[in-house]
Amino acid sequence: MNFELLIAPHVRQMHAYTPIVPFEVLSQRLGIPVEQIVKLDANENLYGPSPKAVQAMAAANKLHIYPDPDQAELRSAISDYIGIPSEHILCGAGADEIIQLIGMAFLQPGDGLLDLPPTFGMYRWLADITGAQYLPIARQADFSIDVDAVVKRQTLNVKLIFVTNPNNPDGSTIDDATLKQLLALPLIVVLDEAYIDFSSQPSRAAWVQQYPNLIVLRTFSKLLGMAGMRIGYGIFPSAIIEHMWKLKQPYTPTVASSIGAIAALSDRAHLRDNVQRIVAERARMGELLSDLGWLQVYPSETNFLLCRVTNGMTRDRATPGKTVKSYLEQRGILVRYFDRDNLRDCFRVSVGRPEHTDRLIEALREMSETELKSENSKFKNRTEQSFV
Ligand code: PMP
Repeated sequence: MNFELLIAPHVRQMHAYTPIVPFEVLSQRLGIPVEQIVKLDANENLYGPSPKAVQAMAAANKLHIYPDPDQAELRSAISDYIGIPSEHILCGAGADEIIQLIGMAFLQPGDGLLDLPPTFGMYRWLADITGAQYLPIARQADFSIDVDAVVKRQTLNVKLIFVTNPNNPDGSTIDDATLKQLLALPLIVVLDEAYIDFSSQPSRAAWVQQYPNLIVLRTFSKLLGMAGMRIGYGIFPSAIIEHMWKLKQPYTPTVASSIGAIAALSDRAHLRDNVQRIVAERARMGELLSDLGWLQVYPSETNFLLCRVTNGMTRDRATPGKTVKSYLEQRGILVRYFDRDNLRDCFRVSVGRPEHTDRLIEALREMSETELKSENSKFKNRTEQSFV
């Protein structure tokens, strides 16, 4: 018997995702020590968590006991931070776990999931693992949402729409009127606010108390600098959250990450300073990138910037974004490239510390001087060969 056939058909059909290359492997491959690699490819917070969080995690002494499945202390600390009662909050191992729970709660094979690409890839993954129909509605050239197209895609079995605000990978936001148009539809709107702390726009988390079809996602991975601890949460309307608790495995997040998260939230001064530092650096980095003269930098309300290569010398290449990414990688600077139609001439770069920006800009200046401007450069030939 071929036991593989026992795997659910929609899982057999799923394509495998390319995992990211671990830091150490990359460092060996490039021959660059780990400490010299500038990691600007995953929108992490390069200032890390509050020292209070690190101390609290190091001092954690109940590691042999399972975490509180009610997450009482953690939810109360979050409630205090966002100003919404604990009853609406459920935490998990990253916002990713909450996304998976939402899929378990709402989607059966054949149900529809509306996605607004280009955006975060986990929503598509959710459609794949649940056997739901993946219904992408491409964003417009300025990355705004095509609401008319969304309205036209309404069918009985469409259950969810994922809206990332601000959006990853471009950093644009959704206005109140557009969000209300989506909330008027007969489906669940999952508003992913992973980057909202870096935005001038306020969170819509409190709206879950008025809109029975709104779910808001937040994470400790970005502003709170704890991506490695895997902790995030969802804010749900009362009628929905009781079902989420039934589906959730009891013991996420871990004891250590919960203790760290509570301490991190208590250090408001550190959080405020980090937002200011990152927002200021975003503006400085944006100007320096634009000043290169061959990049269009999209306005961003996040801790990353999307850049489009506009230089005439690269326009005719199929994948200029990949060219830049590979060039930077050879110099130990990691940025993100997306192999998708409308993003092949783009790369996304996280806002790190000022010294990271300086390394990035130095490498890009070197690239424009020595490589891009030389029509017959070896670099051009080399990259074109390697991408065939
Ligand atoms: N939502 C968005 C829009 C993201 O970009 C990311 C991570 N890059 C996440 C959610 C995942 O968050 P977490 O680390 O809490 O799983």
